[in-house]
Amino acid sequence: MQPKKMKRHLLLLFIMLGLAACGTHKRAARLTFPTPIDTRDRPISLQEKKTRKLPSGIEADNQFDGARLNDFFFDDSSRTLHALILPENEPINQSPWYAFRLRASRDTSILLQLDYGETRHRYWPKISYNGDFWQALDSARFSWGEDSTFANLQLDLDTSWLWVAGQAVENSTKVAEWCSRMNIHPAVRWETFGESRLKRPLYVMHISEGSELKHKPILLIFSRQHPPEVSGFRCMKYFIERILEDDPMAHAFRQKFHIIVFPLINPDGVDLGHWRHNAGGIDLNRDWAVYRQPETRQVADYCARQARKWKAPVLSGVDFHSTQEDIYYNRDESAPPSALPGFNHAWIEAIHERFPQDIGQEDNSPLDKPISAGWFLLQFGAEGLTFELGDEDSTEYLKEKGRIAAEEYMRLLLSRYAR
Ligand SMILES: [Zn+2]
Repeated sequence: MQPKKMKRHLLLLFIMLGLAACGTHKRAARLTFPTPIDTRDRPISLQEKKTRKLPSGIEADNQFDGARLNDFFFDDSSRTLHALILPENEPINQSPWYAFRLRASRDTSILLQLDYGETRHRYWPKISYNGDFWQALDSARFSWGEDSTFANLQLDLDTSWLWVAGQAVENSTKVAEWCSRMNIHPAVRWETFGESRLKRPLYVMHISEGSELKHKPILLIFSRQHPPEVSGFRCMKYFIERILEDDPMAHAFRQKFHIIVFPLINPDGVDLGHWRHNAGGIDLNRDWAVYRQPETRQVADYCARQARKWKAPVLSGVDFHSTQEDIYYNRDESAPPSALPGFNHAWIEAIHERFPQDIGQEDNSPLDKPISAGWFLLQFGAEGLTFELGDEDSTEYLKEKGRIAAEEYMRLLLSRYAR
């Protein structure tokens, strides 16, 4: 964008902010971004949920939350088994999510082809024998086509189910189990504050120590706007678990700040096995301007109500995602200043210092589209960051990065924000 044009857009943004500041703050302020996105509903296709049994005795099943399998058949001409994997609607980005389970009437080895239509392969296959513990499929058993529109898996089947998925299946039940475990901690209050388009609960977790929430600075944590982005979600869990540990810094942090966590913003998309969108067929992370989708509307209003209720500033917003490799999407210099200028950059530097294995680079992107990182800034003046983890980051890496990121977040906020 040309500098002149950018200046004009920024001026418009400031005007919008001014208008919002005059409002009652009962609801989140509507915002204007230089590149508006149409987030009105678009139709989605539902996959047929059933067990497909072939004459050979091989069965494939998608009857669990988070599953994605549109068809399963044996192609006589190529003598290959095919799993057809289609998106909820189009256009959509190249993130074909698949999750299903297989079994056979007797021990057998199969070659299974994942067909993505026109879309390119993204997720390295993970397998599980119980749906809980997952491991990457051995590289000797996996290959993909030259144009990446299909992938071949060699699998050994028997009479027990073998789960196969692009990532560990972390559906709404699993998220609720994690929230419930965290809720045992005295500093945590976990509750349902709304519901998705298809009436699934929207969860929020409050973390705070001490009695008074009034004037206590708020920090917002988002996750799972995009269903398959499980490595981002898992890193967010390690991040939160570190904040809940029993040590002087974590205690001081919980006493000083009110952390509000939205662990599953798109429960319908996750349970329907969507590649990216919600049940309204929309990328929720393009709807942080006028909130046409019920999930963004309710999360945005809830955050605004909390800030108003407690007369508290919102200082920071971190939204966990996944992509091909780790990256930190920060705002560029043309963005209006936040309540904590330069905080994200200092935080990223501190993570790199402590964890040199971190391959994530900082990317200063313009504030042009209605995504959450820009919304944190324009809605509240908070530092906003999209915290992207790599799709194939190992558990050990995610754990260490999540813990170190939490430690540096706590340390920097405690030292920088003394009131
Ligand atoms: Zn994402």
